[in-house]
Amino acid sequence: MTFQNTREYAQSLDAQDELKSYREEFIFPQHNGKNVIYFTGNSLGLQPKRTKSYVDEVMNDWANLAVEGHFYAEKPWWDYQERFANPLSKIVGAKPSEVAVMNTLTVNLHLLMVSFYRPTATRFKIICEEKAFPSDQYMFQSQVNHHGLDPSDAIVEIKRREGEHNIRLEDILAKIEEVGDELALVLFGGVNYYTGQVFDMKTITEAGHKVGAYVGFDLAHAAGNIKLELHDWNVDFAAWCSYKYMNSGPGNASGCFVHEKHHHTNLPRFAGWWGHNKERRFKMEPNFDPVHGADGWQISNLPILSLAPYLASVDMFAEIGMEKLIQKRNQITSYLEFILHEIDKEVESTFEIITPSNPEERACQLSVFLHGEGRNLFDYLMKNGVITDWREPNVIRLAPVPLYTSFEDMYDFGQMLKKGIQSLH
Ligand SMILES: *Cc1c(COP(=O)(O)O)cnc(C)c1O
Repeated sequence: MTFQNTREYAQSLDAQDELKSYREEFIFPQHNGKNVIYFTGNSLGLQPKRTKSYVDEVMNDWANLAVEGHFYAEKPWWDYQERFANPLSKIVGAKPSEVAVMNTLTVNLHLLMVSFYRPTATRFKIICEEKAFPSDQYMFQSQVNHHGLDPSDAIVEIKRREGEHNIRLEDILAKIEEVGDELALVLFGGVNYYTGQVFDMKTITEAGHKVGAYVGFDLAHAAGNIKLELHDWNVDFAAWCSYKYMNSGPGNASGCFVHEKHHHTNLPRFAGWWGHNKERRFKMEPNFDPVHGADGWQISNLPILSLAPYLASVDMFAEIGMEKLIQKRNQITSYLEFILHEIDKEVESTFEIITPSNPEERACQLSVFLHGEGRNLFDYLMKNGVITDWREPNVIRLAPVPLYTSFEDMYDFGQMLKKGIQSLH
């Protein structure tokens, strides 16, 4: 496709955009009376207008029914989470019994590691990506310490090659093979939060299983962003947050996946009453009899007020389907890439896109290394209604979320970027 860096052209792409009506379904912060250009849906998605009615419904049921709401609310609370199974399983490529919503992301990964990281004297290593999200790094270290092991022995990070921004699949596979019999667990991001690199989860899972390890993924930047086939890829477990691409609100609940093949095993886990056999949950029996499914990893009764916005979001994704989202995502990300290259030519700037240029290896994010302008350019953009984020040492991340950003936003952003760079020289 040959793009053009003009407003008319951007508007013509918007006119053909099948998802354009969804932009109206979101609330944008305002800058000088206009919507901001929002590039941080990979950090906190915008609020959908429909979300408030989902929350109000719970507030009203609580007011009118109090404890009776558990059974008689519009959407009864005791099994509220079951409304997620169908739509959410489609979003992540799972069977309905393989997904559950509960807790928050790092907490869920810890809980899943209780089941899937069972180090022995000879098989105790974890493979992860270099510069994983800090919460994941702290999690690995504390899990390893918890088992009385030394993180410098037990944690094996896959490094980028000198001078390269992204991790090569061949290096991941070679390391898995090398660690071999000592490898207990591969736990990788699905999409790297910093560079936006998408990892080949199917191939990584196969390689991990071949040497006898479990394989799980942190899908914080993948859920609602990329095509996932967790069941078919034979992934053992995964978890994601819902407040990034899934627009469920700050700090909101996580989703998790446990493959069907583990539902009838005796994997150890930390238990609570909400993971107990559903039919007998209120019989208050002393012996734990887990639900045979991802729900069997639930512990506490669920925070309905935080599930309500998540349900609003999942319903919206179900309406649209991942195919359409991905189609627009690819087009708008490519358009943004084109705009960046055009501006680069016009201003002789020195920024560099560190996200892979291969569309198979990226999704809805371009990370841009600002060699010359740095922090001042970031500040200029923020002051002018372009919301991006800053990551040390010199990177801004741009996520043109297909649900609510427009092609015209990309054009406007390019003009703002040009002005910013010119004003700083
Ligand atoms: C955003 C993010 C988290 C956040 O974890 P919480 O437990 O929800 O605070 C964890 N891991 C990755 C890779 C992330 O991108």
